[in-house]
Amino acid sequence: MRFYSTNSPSTFTSLGEAIMKSLPEDNGLFMPETIPALSPEFFKNIERSTFSEIAFEVAKQYLSPDLSLEDIRKITDDAINFPVPLVELEEGTFMLELFHGPTLAFKDVGARFMSRTMALLNKNQSKKLTILVATSGDTGSAVANGFYKVDGIEVIILYPSGKVSPLQEKQLTTLGENITALEINGTFDDCQRMVKQAFLDTTLREKYRLSSANSINIARLIPQSFYYIDAYRQLKDKTSPFYFSIPSGNFGNLTAGLLAKRMGLPVSGFIASTNVNNSVPRYLTSGEYQPTNTIATISNAMDVGAPSNFARMNHLYHESVNEMRNDITGYFFDDDATRAEMVNTYSHNRYILDPHGAVGLLGWKEFKKSAPSNSQGIVLETAHPTKFIDVVKETLGIEPEIPKALADLINLEKKSIVMGPDYEGLKAFLMSR
Ligand SMILES: *Cc1c(COP(=O)(O)O)cnc(C)c1O
Repeated sequence: MRFYSTNSPSTFTSLGEAIMKSLPEDNGLFMPETIPALSPEFFKNIERSTFSEIAFEVAKQYLSPDLSLEDIRKITDDAINFPVPLVELEEGTFMLELFHGPTLAFKDVGARFMSRTMALLNKNQSKKLTILVATSGDTGSAVANGFYKVDGIEVIILYPSGKVSPLQEKQLTTLGENITALEINGTFDDCQRMVKQAFLDTTLREKYRLSSANSINIARLIPQSFYYIDAYRQLKDKTSPFYFSIPSGNFGNLTAGLLAKRMGLPVSGFIASTNVNNSVPRYLTSGEYQPTNTIATISNAMDVGAPSNFARMNHLYHESVNEMRNDITGYFFDDDATRAEMVNTYSHNRYILDPHGAVGLLGWKEFKKSAPSNSQGIVLETAHPTKFIDVVKETLGIEPEIPKALADLINLEKKSIVMGPDYEGLKAFLMSR
């Protein structure tokens, strides 16, 4: 399959180039040349499949023939090694739990798939591939975990000292092996600037093969459509209409759902649920796209004022807001509403929502008011509640049990290299290794 940039739809790039580059030079985003349809039989017989077979069937459409079927099978089996259970909260309302991976958030799916795909594309290179990534928390841990012990690739993470949660810091700094954590005495913006400068430095690039594993990499988008189809497999009532509500920030997750629909998934529509960073819901209401500065909220992984995947969504709907409205409805909620929903769901259903999932559930409840009465809603629960333990404790007044994988981290020793927020220091370090 070939890929093109949303800014130049008639120029094509190979799979390998699209993945290794992450971003096209023209500032657009990579899209697949066609969105392949899966056969009606595949969907009809879906209950006979497993999650890993679904992953393989979908991945094959995009990665073959560039990679062999054997390699594609290895990637999906290895990357998708945890379930995404569909849990019924109450009649017609389901939570799709995407947090059973190693870092307890849905970003594991994309990061694990991308890392293994990159490793295979990189196989015949003599020079090691170095992934340089700046993180404000969650992305870094999913990327670090995804690439952990992957042959021929090392990861160097830059994170702002004192500005990530203690648990996040442990996730970044305790892996060792091929993962190096640089603790920068500065802000996230400093980290990002240093990484950008490294990419432009020709002396550095003679020594290193660099890649970025950016969140808008097409190899992170493709695997996110697997679990939309797996949710349908798990749905008992396959005749009543069903909708997905997606708590959204950069809109990668929702865009992956749009790909699943175009591959043939018989979903009736999508609900774009956001916090007060509401550029997309506002666009759907007013028809004007006006991205804004970011506002801090308790669902902070969705604090995005100018979502990068909007370019992909807009492109899929031919820049027409009316076309987009046929498939997507948008709602946004403030922190008070989010906390109230966490309390409500805990008292009525004994289910602990994380703040992102709470925004998703609010979106479905709002949508349901005007939907046919037999409609079913599938809310993507994007993170385990203990990833946001402070908010959960303060809102629900309970002490949720920390999963063992996270609890064990607390006792591991942090290993980081402390550095000032200047590029020359980073360069000196990289050149001397
Ligand atoms: C990244 C993230 C989101 C937002 O996903 P997008 O694909 O950026 O819309 C939602 N919830 C959690 C927990 C996240 O980490």
